[in-house]
Amino acid sequence: MADMKLVVVGAAGRMGQALIRAITAVDGAALAGAVERAGAPEIGRDAGELAGLGALGVPIADDAEAAFAGADGVLDFTAPAASVEFAERAAEAGIVHIVGTTGCTPEQERQIAAAADRCAIVKSGNMSLGVNLLGVLVEQAARALEAADWDIEVLEMHHKHKVDAPSGTAYLLGEAAARGRGIDLETESVRVRDGQTGPRPSGAIGFATLRGGSVVGEHSVVIAGEGESIELMHRALDRSIFARGAVKAALWARGRPPGLYSMLDVLGLT
Ligand code: NAD
Repeated sequence: MADMKLVVVGAAGRMGQALIRAITAVDGAALAGAVERAGAPEIGRDAGELAGLGALGVPIADDAEAAFAGADGVLDFTAPAASVEFAERAAEAGIVHIVGTTGCTPEQERQIAAAADRCAIVKSGNMSLGVNLLGVLVEQAARALEAADWDIEVLEMHHKHKVDAPSGTAYLLGEAAARGRGIDLETESVRVRDGQTGPRPSGAIGFATLRGGSVVGEHSVVIAGEGESIELMHRALDRSIFARGAVKAALWARGRPPGLYSMLDVLGLT
């Protein structure tokens, strides 16, 4: 089979550059296009040079429609409104859409899911093998331990440029804990604490957010009981783990029927 032709949107971003490097390193994938927002200073530059690889002959452009026309898939780690737009364009073109963007509102999640009736979309708040495995372990632990006796808290730390909180990964882990307990994370979680909060609501899943420096991503799930606590943690040392996961997801989704898939499907962890 010919190499899968992939377009990177948000090509000049931190993840965009990691995705360009990952595509060139994985057998069966080829960089077919690189897209940035209109007016971005990187428009016209060679995508490979920007990613530190040397020239690849793929200039960064601002015309997503033209880039999608000859491609098999798009890798998208951009911003929520942009990902909604790219989902619609990928659906029109009938190509695979891999969405790593976090911080989407419920309405934006719904719009992206709606596009999945016309193309295969893989969406995950974290594309690494380690975090998805951690989610499976958290779900098992939450199912095994009585909610009345064990409090679950999700802690995360990221670099100072991150714009959404809690992180997509923190939600992914919170969702896993909620599934294990058979509760709705939306209504049974505490996202922020400040001032006279009163005692911790029993059974709720708590979140705590730290920001600073260049931390790629650290997540811990603390399960605290009377006299003992358990901590499950993941530390991302390099963005390449997310980028490799995204390329793997694209190759997995090639030829699949339209639908909204997750990294658990890609990794066979369902
Ligand atoms: P970044 O700000 O470095 O990069 C985002 C890029 O998207 C920028 O270059 C920006 O110009 C571009 N962009 C925005 N709107 C655009 C549009 N309409 N068209 C084309 N390009 C557009 O951010 P980052 O650190 O690379 O993270 C990007 C997203 O990926 C964030 O939501 C982050 O939380 C998420 N992320 C997800 C994972 C995962 O595994 N799912 C891992 C890391 C980061």
